[in-house]
Amino acid sequence: MSINVRGVTKAFGDFVALDNVDLEIPAGKLVALLGPSGSGKTTLLRIIAGLEFADAGTIAFDGADISQRSPGERQVGFVFQHYALFRHMTVFENIAFGLRVRPRSSRPSEERIRAKVEELLRLIQLRNQASRYPSQLSGGQRQRVALARALAVEPSVLLLDEPFGALDAKVRLELRRWLRNLHDEVHITSIFVTHDQEEALEVADHVAVMNRGKIEQIGAPDDVYNHPATSFVFNFLGSVNLFHGRIEEGTTYIHQTATDHLVFVRPHSLEISRRLPDHPNHFRATTKHINAAGPLVKVEAVTEWGAPVQVEMSQERFRDLSLIKGEEVFVVPTELAVFRSSEGTPVARA
Ligand code: ADP
Ligand code: MG
Repeated sequence: MSINVRGVTKAFGDFVALDNVDLEIPAGKLVALLGPSGSGKTTLLRIIAGLEFADAGTIAFDGADISQRSPGERQVGFVFQHYALFRHMTVFENIAFGLRVRPRSSRPSEERIRAKVEELLRLIQLRNQASRYPSQLSGGQRQRVALARALAVEPSVLLLDEPFGALDAKVRLELRRWLRNLHDEVHITSIFVTHDQEEALEVADHVAVMNRGKIEQIGAPDDVYNHPATSFVFNFLGSVNLFHGRIEEGTTYIHQTATDHLVFVRPHSLEISRRLPDHPNHFRATTKHINAAGPLVKVEAVTEWGAPVQVEMSQERFRDLSLIKGEEVFVVPTELAVFRSSEGTPVARA
């Protein structure tokens, strides 16, 4: 089932939570809605679910306008951050719930319900926990049961609002891989809301980046990461160094007194060298702190004009340099993006 959001606007009093949002989600895809807190993600999800109504605009499922339909009629599956399972019911009964409460005419037979729940237990890898109660499960297991419960009724689309938000980092990491695999198996059109850029980039087929009630960019994860359309997207999708710069004859120069352009450089796109670089665009910096505990070595330095700068390099490069703290070095950007200060739109890449 494809989802088509067109021109959706929603205000709460004077506050515009969604500002003329367009969003197209092809059938069977998993799309992440990524943005900071308050950017309108939950409001958009609730409007798609029918739990909230837009002031203007339409929602279509498979091309049919469903804007006026109730949540029940839309048949969406919903999983929230704090999804309350029924405490007095076993895992099995929690998953079966949506099928058991159907009117008799559309309720599947007991045999079909069992088969469906068994299939879902396999999918969420909790086959041996069917007779446990929610209190006997870990947080990650509970969210998997919540997902199975949403899937049991075979919803037309699946909406997930920060489903792993309350779990600790390691469990989140496992669950996002698990969700990716699950989606590869069931192919249900899904929207996954998160404020965690790594989670969005890793899980989704497409990432829609939201800011102040607008979608700033939508694209494949590597596309939005490597070709951010706005300075907001560049900033939001990972760490970045922000410089001032000027452009002369097509070359960008990082310069402390320039004011017309903003230059964004990711930490791994800065190279440290001891020799005066050939490239005209370089500056001096002094290393202040080195963290070599990780796959990449993180170097914090201070530029010749006194601004902090973050550099990342491979362990191998770090060993070759034998870099130490308090050393003066040259820094060269190998890849940068330039945005006009006033607009936040890109003007050049080098
Ligand atoms: P997100 O999920 O991206 O954090 P939300 O969609 O929840 O953002 O909220 C966007 C903005 O709209 C927030 O500033 C929030 O305070 C406001 N908002 C959301 N729901 C309501 C409401 N029912 N009444 C008033 N303001 C609301
Ligand atoms: Mg929210």
